[in-house]
Amino acid sequence: MQYRRLGTSGLQLSALSFGAWVTFGAQVGRSLARQLIAYAHERGVNFFDNAETYNNGEAERLMGDVLADLRLPRDSYCVSSKVMFGAVEHPLPTQRGLSRKHVVEACHQALERLRVDYLDLYLCHRPDPDTPIVETVAAMDMLVRQGKVLYWGTSEWSAAQIRQAHQAARLNHLTAPTMEQPQYNLLHRDRVEREYAPLYEEFGMGTTIWSPLASGLLSGKYLDGVPHDSRLAQSNYAWLRDNLLGQGDAMVKVRALSPIAERLGVSLAQLSLAWCLKNPRVSTVILGASKREQLEENFKALEVVGKLDADLMEAISAAVGQGA
Ligand code: NDP
Repeated sequence: MQYRRLGTSGLQLSALSFGAWVTFGAQVGRSLARQLIAYAHERGVNFFDNAETYNNGEAERLMGDVLADLRLPRDSYCVSSKVMFGAVEHPLPTQRGLSRKHVVEACHQALERLRVDYLDLYLCHRPDPDTPIVETVAAMDMLVRQGKVLYWGTSEWSAAQIRQAHQAARLNHLTAPTMEQPQYNLLHRDRVEREYAPLYEEFGMGTTIWSPLASGLLSGKYLDGVPHDSRLAQSNYAWLRDNLLGQGDAMVKVRALSPIAERLGVSLAQLSLAWCLKNPRVSTVILGASKREQLEENFKALEVVGKLDADLMEAISAAVGQGA
């Protein structure tokens, strides 16, 4: 495993980490979750990503049980939670959002579900138009000072909103965000590469990137239809299927990447993950998996990064229709 600093902070995260969205508490039950976490930890993964809203808290409960059951040393891994959408089906106004009340209560609930004394990373899952940014920054600062959170950050905030959070922190002597969690993959590049470009130097911002395979699309598994045991076959993720498979040219791009992977003798998933890892602004690539074999295949992406020279990077960009 390779370890990378989370921005300019001193925290070193494994370049590949592991997350619970969709899978934990749905496709992945307790025994498989145990296998996957144990295997990932054995392979050097030190960051497990979660959120209050994943299967309405069930994903955190499951991860917490497994971490406790495996008795992994607490100083050998980091765990996150995210706050915004709530952990119940129809949240009341006080059960969602980024108010001081919900940020604090959601943290306490996540600590309980994950069975830990502190969250290593705590992220605002989306911006909240109904809460002043300074209120959220102050709530995060309080949790950091109380030792309940070590690093806080944002997820899918605009560059302008991230800048506002830093300004609020500076003006009020509060703890500033350390990281952002954006979507980043070969089909979704703009925000990480362009919109956030000034923020890396300005704020030392780290990134914990999500959906590196665009929910599996970039593994090529959907080129000939939707496999019955795949994410896009899950009945409650029809919106995701329509969204991903409805992008007219996504499949054309995946097909165009195939000969590059073949030439390198690697799978499409490995090529796509290695491409994410190649970006030095990426602190960690969060993997998702519903099977152990997927993790086994995906970890090998680390060996592919060194093979991606300038010519190959250009060919990859051309295949997905973007300049390098
Ligand atoms: P990916 O884009 O990598 O998708 C993972 C899924 O792709 C797996 O569950 C599996 O689905 C399939 N897959 C993975 N590897 C392979 C392979 N080698 N061959 C074939 N299929 C494969 O990542 P996620 O979308 O899961 O995102 C990763 C993590 O990021 C999440 O778990 C979550 O922690 C975080 N996240 C954060 C968000 C945010 O808003 N901050 C939003 C979304 C995710 P299957 O087998 O079911 O087809």
